[in-house]
Amino acid sequence: MRHLSVLRQRHGLARGNELGLTKRQLRLLVERGELRSPARGWYALPEADPHTTRAVALGGRLACVSALRSHGCDVPGDASVLHYAVPSHHRVRRRGPGVRHFEDVADHGGAYVQPLPDALVRAMLCRPYLEALATLELVARTRGPELLEDVLRRVAAVRSGLAADLATDVDLASRSAVETRVRLALRAAGLHVVAGARIPGIGEVDLLVEGCVIVEIDGFAYHGDRKQYRADRRRDRAAARLGLVVLRFAFEDADAVAVVAEVALHVAALRHHPHQPLRSVPPAVIHQLREVAARGENRSSWRARKAVGVTGGRIGGVPSDGAAVPSAGPAATATTG
Ligand SMILES: [Zn+2]
Repeated sequence: MRHLSVLRQRHGLARGNELGLTKRQLRLLVERGELRSPARGWYALPEADPHTTRAVALGGRLACVSALRSHGCDVPGDASVLHYAVPSHHRVRRRGPGVRHFEDVADHGGAYVQPLPDALVRAMLCRPYLEALATLELVARTRGPELLEDVLRRVAAVRSGLAADLATDVDLASRSAVETRVRLALRAAGLHVVAGARIPGIGEVDLLVEGCVIVEIDGFAYHGDRKQYRADRRRDRAAARLGLVVLRFAFEDADAVAVVAEVALHVAALRHHPHQPLRSVPPAVIHQLREVAARGENRSSWRARKAVGVTGGRIGGVPSDGAAVPSAGPAATATTG
């Protein structure tokens, strides 16, 4: 059973001569369905990941977004498309379906999946801009800011303009690719946005726009259960007490341009007639909300503006300055606790 322990150490995949079995024994195991032979001289456990197996059968290893998924990262894009890397000296022979990359690795020592930082750098260079940015945010959010710095530095060595744009647009508070797209569209329209804003009395919201409109992008999987359903309603009431407008969009309805148009209407209306917080809201809470709103950022790169289809710098007649943060007004003077 030595061959099983070797296979398990290697993503369920190894060369025949690493397994300590004769050719006859190997043939027998394949006939009995206990092993598969995805390519000449290669053997795999039946449960081995089909993408990794295919990458090896094509003379390479799992790379780019396919490698990130194998490392447990939930990255956007079509997971059925295989991304693999072959050594750059590889002669162009077998070419299967999928996206083929080249890499300068003489021998990866049986590591059939590209290491996570290498795979992330590759994905930045491979995927369309918004998909790359959302991937960077989702992976760096869980793996730490050191990884973000490392990846930006390595991308800059190859494509400095792309790295600079990623550095402008990246926001580790983002929780989904849809949210990333909407945030960039709002900023491209000149609006100030805080992603993942923590508002006193409400908690973390997806996006706070111009200090007065909360945009929540709700996936049914998370927001469909009873507990979350109740929490959402409590949060909406807390927002109303603070004079904030809450706009909820289902994932499927969160078309970036449509969201910007709707948010812009509310921002414009609130500038003329800002909602007042209730008198019972303590001034300290309004002060904290103002501090959160002041972090609003409206920078976006040219690549982001082009990708989201908002290039004019303003939309719906909303000027890009002058936030409508709720004034402390009557609440500041009337509150006694
Ligand atoms: Zn790729």
